Formats: sequence, C-alpha cells, structure tokens
Amino acid sequence: MQRERVSDNVYWFQSEIYAQVTAGVIAGPQWAVVIDTLALPEEALAIRNHVEDVLNLPVRYVINTHHHADHCWGNCFFPGATIIGHALCREILLERGSQALESARKLNAAFKQIKIVAPHLTFNEGTLSLRVGKKTLTMMATPGHSRDGISILVDEDRVLFAGDAFLPLPYIVDGDVDELAGTIKRIGKMGLENIIQGHGDIILRGEIDQSVRENLAYLSAIRKAVRAAARRKNPLDALADVTIESCGKSRVFLGGLAKELHARNLRALYRQNSREVSRPQQPELAGEL
Ligand SMILES: [Zn+2]
Repeated sequence: MQRERVSDNVYWFQSEIYAQVTAGVIAGPQWAVVIDTLALPEEALAIRNHVEDVLNLPVRYVINTHHHADHCWGNCFFPGATIIGHALCREILLERGSQALESARKLNAAFKQIKIVAPHLTFNEGTLSLRVGKKTLTMMATPGHSRDGISILVDEDRVLFAGDAFLPLPYIVDGDVDELAGTIKRIGKMGLENIIQGHGDIILRGEIDQSVRENLAYLSAIRKAVRAAARRKNPLDALADVTIESCGKSRVFLGGLAKELHARNLRALYRQNSREVSRPQQPELAGEL
C-alpha cells in the first residue's frame, strides 16, 4: 500500500493490489475519519492499524464515496465507526450487496472475512458537513460513475476526495455518460488544490485543467465512436476496433486494467443508447471499479 501526506492531517492511501484504488484519512485531535476502505481485508486492516497505532486515534466515521466493492466492503473492519454515504448507497448495498459478496467469495476466499455494512447515516440532496479538528468536510453528490456517488471537500485545503467521479479513465458502465460529464465540469470549476481520484494518482493544481479537458474529450470521443459503430452492420465488432488511444487516452495504467475498462465503456454506452430506442436488455455485470 502506498501512503502520502496530502496536507496537515490529511492522508492518502493507494492499493498495490487492485486497480490503484485509493482511500483517505482526516485526523482530528481525538478521532479520525476514513474515506473508503480499499479492495481487500488486508488493506482495510492496514489503514485501520495506521490510524490506531501510528496516528494513535480511533476511527469515528467512515465515509463511502459509493457502493462499489473496492470502496466500501472494508466497512466491517471499523465496527466502532458510524458509516456515512448517499441514501442510494445504503439502498443499493442492502439490495445487491449480499449477492455480489457471495459471487466474489467464490473467486477469492479472502472475501469470506467480509460482512456488508451499509451506511448508517445518509443524505439525499444538498450537502452534509462534518467538522474534524480544524477541518470542515463537505460531502456532496457527484453522480455519473454511479447513481450514488459523493465527493468530500476538505474546505480549508481545497482538497477534493472525488471517489470515482474523477478517474484517469472515466468509467460509465454502472452510470450515465451525460451525468458524469456534468460532474467533471463542476469539479473543474471548484478551484481545487488537489483532486484525490478514486483510482490512480493525486492530481495537482497545475494539472487539473488539463485532466478535466482530457476526461471530457474522452467522453465525447466514446459517444461519437458508439454512434458511428451503431450505423455499421456489426456494431459490436466495430466497437472492438476502437482503441483507447483513438479516444485521446494513453499511458493510463490502473493496474493494467485500462484497456479492458475502455472496452466495457464502449459496450455499455452502446447498450444504453440502444435501450433508449428498443426494448430493455439485461445489463452486463458491472465491473468492480
Ligand atoms: Zn466505482
């Protein structure tokens, strides 16, 4: 696990096991807040140990940026904490969590240690504020990657924990491309010092404008590619030829998953578009990202 101090009492963690997924810690004088819980039990426990043994604080709150496994399945390792998330995050976890966990256990025995814990404290619209020592955390909805996405702004530092609303490669398989474009534009106008992406590296102030432009250009490029493919005889074959580079993204790592995620984006968008004009189809199983 990678670890870095972002600003006073604000820390960032990155998985070395799965897709460079990230988490955060904001430390107050008496207790700490954890944002997301990484992919596997050993990593969730490593964050808890760091907070309890190195920072010498109990974890009072865990904030989930959204319901995907790699962001909230570690909730159960913080039994004394109040879990916070969007109301939809709670709803979706209660509805689909146990079935998803059952399938994951068949692939990886490490998930046997997991119990799904849905957020205890939720909000639906507007913002939710939490004061931690001298920092104010403002939580707000940032949908598009998923319906329940929230981001957390550390007001005093202008640091945004964006969850998967901001990624090295925007991912819309479980979301909505137009909603995500709106969210990315909004993040671009927030006057930030850093964006902590849900996966990948921290974006510094001087890199934000270009990252926003690149991500919006990528979403436009996949929309265009999908429209063009839909006019072909075999749309899915045509989509298989649309490279990530031709959509303006190169050098995206994400633990080696970038190409596969790009291919899933194209198929999902094609499915979403054709669903609007034809009868509903069974959605493809969403990835863990
Ligand atoms: Zn996600």
